[in-house]
Amino acid sequence: MKKKPLKVAAIAACLLIAGLPPLAFVRYLENHAVFSAEETLSDYAGRMVDHLELTIDQGVLALTDLAANGALECDAAAIDAMRRAIFDTYVLREIAVVDADGNKICADTIFKTERWTLSRQGTVNRAIDVSVVTDEQTFMRSLALRYRPDGDRALIAHFAPNSLGVDVLSDRWRSAGVARLSLLDGTEFQTVPPRKGTDFAIGDDTIGATVASNRYPLGVDIRVDRATVMRDYENLKAYALVAMSIFAGIVLGVAVFIARQRPSASDDIGQGMKAGEFIPYYQPVINLNTGKLEGCEVLVRRRRRDGTIQSPAAFIAQAEADGQIIPLTRQLMRQTITDLGESYGKRPHLSVAFNLCAHHFTNDEIVHDVETIFANGPIAPTQLVFEVTERLPLDDTMTAIRVIAELQAIGSKVALDDAGTGHSGLAMLHRLGMDIVKIDKLFIDPIGPGTQSAPIVDSLVDLAKNLGMSLIAEGVETLDQVHYLRAHGVDSAQGYLFAPPLPASSYIALVNAMGSAPGKTEDHDQGIAA
Ligand code: C2E
Ligand code: CA
Ligand code: CA
Repeated sequence: MKKKPLKVAAIAACLLIAGLPPLAFVRYLENHAVFSAEETLSDYAGRMVDHLELTIDQGVLALTDLAANGALECDAAAIDAMRRAIFDTYVLREIAVVDADGNKICADTIFKTERWTLSRQGTVNRAIDVSVVTDEQTFMRSLALRYRPDGDRALIAHFAPNSLGVDVLSDRWRSAGVARLSLLDGTEFQTVPPRKGTDFAIGDDTIGATVASNRYPLGVDIRVDRATVMRDYENLKAYALVAMSIFAGIVLGVAVFIARQRPSASDDIGQGMKAGEFIPYYQPVINLNTGKLEGCEVLVRRRRRDGTIQSPAAFIAQAEADGQIIPLTRQLMRQTITDLGESYGKRPHLSVAFNLCAHHFTNDEIVHDVETIFANGPIAPTQLVFEVTERLPLDDTMTAIRVIAELQAIGSKVALDDAGTGHSGLAMLHRLGMDIVKIDKLFIDPIGPGTQSAPIVDSLVDLAKNLGMSLIAEGVETLDQVHYLRAHGVDSAQGYLFAPPLPASSYIALVNAMGSAPGKTEDHDQGIAA
C-alpha cells in the first residue's frame, strides 16, 4: 500500500516544521540583538565624533585667531588675548607659546605646564597637529592642539578633558559599556564614563562599533558587554520560545491526528477490494409449489482481516456513490464462478442473481463485463439474473432500456427489485421490459395467520401475470406467508424461513443436497417441505 510511506513522510515533515522554527527564531533573535546593538552603538559613536570635531574646531579657530593677532610675540596684549580666548571658548584649559623644543615662552597663566612633551602626534595639516597629554596634577589624559604657522614658535592649547567626551550611552548600557576616544594610532586620551588609567575592561565578549573622524586623526570606539545586550532579549526569547512551543504543540497535534486518521471511506473500500475482503454470500430462492431450489441471489459481505463480517449497509451506499460498485460487482461475478462454477455447470436450471445499481445502466460496460467474465465458463449467461432496484432513479431511461435489452439478448433475465417501493411507478416495469418482479419484504411482512388479502401483493401479482412476468417474494419468514403467496399465484420466494444468505460452502452443500444431481432428472430432486 503506497499510503504508509506518505504518512511517515507527512509525520516527519510535521516534526521538522514543529522543531525548526523555535530554534531558528531564537537564532534570529540573537542575530537581531547583535545587529541592532551595533547600529545603536555606531550612532552613539558618530555623535561623539561630531562633538569632538566641534570642540577641536573651536580650539583651531582660537589658535589661528591668536596667531593672526600677534600672540606669538608674547607681549602683554598677547597674554591678555590668550586669557580671553580661554574664557570665550570654554573648552580650552591652557594656552601657551612654546619654542622648537617645547619650552614655554609665555602662557595665559603662570601656574601651569612649564615644558610640553608631546608624545605622539596626529597631523591635521602642515601647521596643525594634535597630541595626547597627561595633566600633571590630575594625571588625566587630554588632547593638545599645536599651531605652528611658520618659524620655531608654536601656539599650543590643552583641552579641558571634560570638554572632549560627551556621555551618550543610554542608562541600560552605561554600567556595562564604555566609549574610548583615541588618536588613529591607538593612543587613548579619554574614556566615557571617565575611568582612570587603564582600568578600561568590560569583559572579553563585547559588542561594539568604531567611528573615525574624517577631519581629525582620531576616532571613537564604543563597546558594551554582550551579556548586557542579550539580557534585554531574554524576556522576548522566553516569550518567543513559549509561543513557538505552543505552535510546535499544535503542529505535533496535527501530525498525531494525521497519523491516527483512518483512511477515507472510499480509500477503505479500495483497500478492501485489493485485499479480497468482499465476498459473495448466496441466499437460496425456493419454488413454493415444489419446494425445490431454483437458484440464489448474491449478497455481498465484507470479511475484514480480524474475521468480522460486515453487511452491505456498511459500504454499499459509498461504493455506489463513488463508482467502486462497478469493479466490486466484477469481483463478485468472478468469485461466483470460482464458488459455484462446478455445481452450476452440472445444473443449468439453477440461477444466480446479481444486484446492479443505477451506475450500471448509464452505459454498456456491464454487458461487456458479463460477456467477458462468463464467456466459455461453467455458468451460462442463461443462468444469470440481474436485479435493478426500483428505489434508484434511472436518469437515462433510453440507455437503461438498451442495457436491459442487451442483457436479455445474451440470454440473461432482469428483475425489478424492491417492487412497489420506488417512485418510478409500475408503468416502468413494462417500458423497461423486465422478466421478474421481486415483491419487497415490506409487503410480505403484514401477511399473518388468517390474512385474506394483501392489496399490494395482490395487485403486483395481477400486473406481473398480465405482463407475462414471473414473481419472487422477498423476506418470507413464516409458513402463513408461504400459504398466502402460494394460494395467490406467487411461485418463488426467498427468506429466512428457508435460509439466510449463506457462505459459499454452505450454499454448495445445500445445492448438493436438494438440487438435481448430475445425470438425474428434476423429478428426483429433494424439495424443502413447506
Ligand atoms: P436486497 O437486494 O433487497 O436484498 C435482500 C436483503 O434482505 C438482504 O440484506 C437479505 O439478507 C435480506 N433478507 C433476505 N431474507 C430475509 C428475511 O427473511 N428477513 C429479513 N429480515 N431479511 C431478509 P442484505 O444482504 O443486508 O443486503 C441489503 C441490500 O444491500 C440488498 O437488498 C441490496 O440492495 C444491497 N446489496 C447486497 N449485495 C449487493 C451487491 O452485490 N450489489 C449491489 N449493488 N447491492 C447489493
Ligand atoms: Ca436484490
Ligand atoms: Ca429487495
